[in-house]
Amino acid sequence: METTLRGVGVSHGVAIGEVRHMGTAVLEPPAKQIPADEAPREQGRARQAVEAVANDLIARGNLAGGEAQAVLEAQAMMAQDPELIADVDRRIAVGSSAERAVYDAFAAYRALLANAGEYLAGRVADLDDVRNRIVARLLGVPMPGVPDSEEPYVLIARDLAPADTALLDPTLVLGFVTEEGGPTSHSAILARALGVPAVVALPGATEIAEGTVIAVDGSTGDIFIDPSPEKRAELTEAAAVRASALAASAGPGATSDGHKVPLLANVGGPADLPAALEAGAEGVGLFRTEFLFLDSSEKAPTEEKQVAAYRQVLEAFPEGRVVVRVLDAGADKPLDFLTPADEPNPALGVRGLRILLEHPDVLRTQLRALATAAEGLPVYLEVMAPMVADRIDAKAFADACREAGLRAKFGAMVEIPSAALRARSILQEVEFLSLGTNDLAQYTFAADRQVGAVSRLQDPWQPALLDLVATSAEAARAEGKSCGVCGEAASDPLLACVLTGLGVTSLSMGAASIPYVRATLAKHTLAQCERAAAAARATDTADDARRAAQAVLSGE
Ligand code: PEP
Ligand code: MG
Repeated sequence: METTLRGVGVSHGVAIGEVRHMGTAVLEPPAKQIPADEAPREQGRARQAVEAVANDLIARGNLAGGEAQAVLEAQAMMAQDPELIADVDRRIAVGSSAERAVYDAFAAYRALLANAGEYLAGRVADLDDVRNRIVARLLGVPMPGVPDSEEPYVLIARDLAPADTALLDPTLVLGFVTEEGGPTSHSAILARALGVPAVVALPGATEIAEGTVIAVDGSTGDIFIDPSPEKRAELTEAAAVRASALAASAGPGATSDGHKVPLLANVGGPADLPAALEAGAEGVGLFRTEFLFLDSSEKAPTEEKQVAAYRQVLEAFPEGRVVVRVLDAGADKPLDFLTPADEPNPALGVRGLRILLEHPDVLRTQLRALATAAEGLPVYLEVMAPMVADRIDAKAFADACREAGLRAKFGAMVEIPSAALRARSILQEVEFLSLGTNDLAQYTFAADRQVGAVSRLQDPWQPALLDLVATSAEAARAEGKSCGVCGEAASDPLLACVLTGLGVTSLSMGAASIPYVRATLAKHTLAQCERAAAAARATDTADDARRAAQAVLSGE
């Protein structure tokens, strides 16, 4: 029987395929001395590794063609530079191992390049990549970074940073499994955006050997190693039955008695729009603009580039609603040119709106770009700030929006408990609230969203989190304003009913979750949702809250 492991399922569906590992940074090989008579063998090993890496780069260049081919061929030439190879040989002759000699020879070459004018200095990253590839090959560890594979695969990683995932080819990734991360980690968010099954917080995931065939059930969190043909058939059939039931759900989000709850999509940029439209999203509830900035982490993208990206998203929903979040840099989304390097606790430091208030030029450019992008479009634009702590933050953001001449509604994300507790005072400055339940859970439970060991506390069913949602929604209702949820909590169909019962006015999620949420919401009345919400809040644990809501909604 196949081995079964269990993590936390964070993106529905079943993926079956061979494992490829996300390579980690290459460690510095130890500086051990080798006996003189081993030198010729080590020199042979080094040459073979250099040849293999150069050939691989050339082969990948031939496949890619165009500009990528030129870059990969230039890298292959770096690897085969005769002086570099002679230096490696010399270092081995005086006692270095092959991997250490390559490491040191490249370090010397790197220093030369770095001081040789702007163009060559710009090639240092390429040189580092070549070095890492050769050293990884000599050490027998996976190549660093995104796997090189022409065949679709299941990606296994310790965790995935936004910068890594930007390089993934979505046509090749069948699913994800990560050792770290919780339901709100970027690996989980990305998996849902791509619509691929994913399991996170699986201890020992990175020990599953490269090439092993596994089945990932993103609904249950189960991983089957070497699944039998029967198990594969069983899993695939169950996923197909679920998918066809969902395909039948369409139209705007509403409870069975017609209480409307707009279902919106979370997007990272124009690339996510086709999936959002296909899922029938009624607009965008969270445009995470930082993905645009990750492409150019040395500096902010130009105003023109921003206008073009924003306009594409706005045009996708004519007469629909688009909620744009201004740049949320820091903590789990670091940006070299903005985030302080030496903070002991980046999640509690200068991040989100705090960074923008320290760099008003970046905020101003972004707001101006949004104003230009929206010009002449019938879209209903809303702009919100991440990490608003209090009324002072909310006012500073609203003032900046007004100064930029933005014709839009200004809002605040509720991600910090203080903002939920004093939501009414924040609503004196802004026109809507959007609950970022991922960070709200992180700060309510003092549980880092990137750490698998505390994923229990990231469970959005925690009654304390539901209390904060209720407080925010009640404040918005009292002020006659809206309060949506754009954190991952909205993508859990049962929890979406509970959030509706708590008074939340819209739900925004990765496009792939929309059909699930729509279908579940359509089965229950608003009164049932309210009863489920009250039952969940009356418990003391996330599991009990889930069970209590389930019992109400299934009519037990
Ligand atoms: C959140 O914190 O819930 C949120 C929506 O923002 P992000 O996940 O991008 O931090
Ligand atoms: Mg957040």
